[in-house]
Amino acid sequence: MRLRFAPSPTGYLHVGGARTALFNWLLARRSGGSFILRIEDTDLSRSTEEAIEAIIRDMRWLGLDWDEGPEVGGEHWPYRQTGRVNLYRRAAEELLREGSAYRCFCLPEELAERRERAVKEGRSPMYDRRCRSISPEESLAMAREGKPFALRFAVPEGETVVRDLVRGEIRFRNEEIEDFVLLRNDGSPTYNLAVVVDDLDMRITHVVRGDDHLPNTPKQILLYRALGEEEPAFAHLPMIVGRDGKPLSKRHGDVAVGSFQERGFLPDAMVNFLALLGWSLDDSTTIMDRDTLVAGFSLERVSSKPAVWDDEKLLWMNSQYVMAMDAEELAHALMPFLARAGLAEGDDTEALEKMRRIAPLIRERIKVLADAVPLVAFFFREPEAEEEARELLVGEENRAVLRETGKRLLELEGFDAAALESALRAMAEEMGVKPRKAFQPVRVALTGSKVSPPLFESMEILGRETCLRRIARSLEEGGMEKG
Ligand code: GLU
Repeated sequence: MRLRFAPSPTGYLHVGGARTALFNWLLARRSGGSFILRIEDTDLSRSTEEAIEAIIRDMRWLGLDWDEGPEVGGEHWPYRQTGRVNLYRRAAEELLREGSAYRCFCLPEELAERRERAVKEGRSPMYDRRCRSISPEESLAMAREGKPFALRFAVPEGETVVRDLVRGEIRFRNEEIEDFVLLRNDGSPTYNLAVVVDDLDMRITHVVRGDDHLPNTPKQILLYRALGEEEPAFAHLPMIVGRDGKPLSKRHGDVAVGSFQERGFLPDAMVNFLALLGWSLDDSTTIMDRDTLVAGFSLERVSSKPAVWDDEKLLWMNSQYVMAMDAEELAHALMPFLARAGLAEGDDTEALEKMRRIAPLIRERIKVLADAVPLVAFFFREPEAEEEARELLVGEENRAVLRETGKRLLELEGFDAAALESALRAMAEEMGVKPRKAFQPVRVALTGSKVSPPLFESMEILGRETCLRRIARSLEEGGMEKG
């Protein structure tokens, strides 16, 4: 199988595009075939270099590697449509020669006006095919005179059947298909021409894409036939919708792959989640690593019903993947987030070492990597006690606990979590304070918050000096607050 993902680089990579890329990638990997990345940048006014870079970056982040395409090359180079325009022109000329295409001299203003009138009068706004009746000789003569023209496909009579691997057989009456443009009057190719020429040239066997392209498919099939070729197999993937049933868009929240990366979703979780948008392995399995996805994926189990995007499910899934990470992996994954928050340098080995010890303490408390930042900040900088936690630093009992804690920490022989716990429990008992109540001022003094990662493990990581300093500082500030 030879499959391709063919994004138009007009913005960020949308999660819907990523799902399309993933399904193609899974089929290629499953079949031992090839996955091709092709940049469809013929729309010069909307395509940008930044968008191409973003697509490549996001595909790499998701781990969807391609066998042919930008950066990796391949025998059908270049994999950018702007570098392949001659191929499209050649195909268009062939179609013209064979009588499957004709020159259309209608000017854009005229077309717009006719379309408007048709709509007003309740007729189809389709091109009325008037230039189709110009004889080839006259057409050539007009072209030689320098009259601008577009090239249109002459849609034949009859009916076109799309045999879709997901949706089954769909019939289109050709009379409802417009004589669509192949080359615009500036000589630039349209999507329908370029995509067919490329899919033929690159010997694509399966076109797997969003079902918003279904209306294009009969046109493309007609083009294959007119070029004397067989069309590839088609599979149109169901739309992704929000909970309101409308196509997933910015109104629903994040839709750019890049913003999920920024929030700290893991590529494996993302891939797992995307795979389940319109496909299932069976009736119950949700967590699947890449190998399982590759081994189990098939178009037969792709649904034709819209797939609903569920943020909660994605968060849950991500937390499952976070929990499965070992301390080393999690620490590495968190470093960029610490760096962005100004808590550490990206290549700070000391911070990384510390993060390795912290990771097991927070692994079950975060859903996305960014959640870790507020939880771990106190390990990296002096905490400011949160407003609602300050009360725990004043009052006689709290201050007595803090003073006594300071003393015991000073005397303690080792400084590991177990020793800390038994020392502070003994202290609470001797002072006649419930342990949980005794630990709260200590927690606030050390972390700035009433909720934190496990206290004794955190103290061990902070170390004796830091703990003592923070307790002393809290006593000082609490004293001032009291007046
Ligand atoms: N460039 C088209 C898009 O981004 C590709 C459609 C196709 O896969 O044929 O929608």
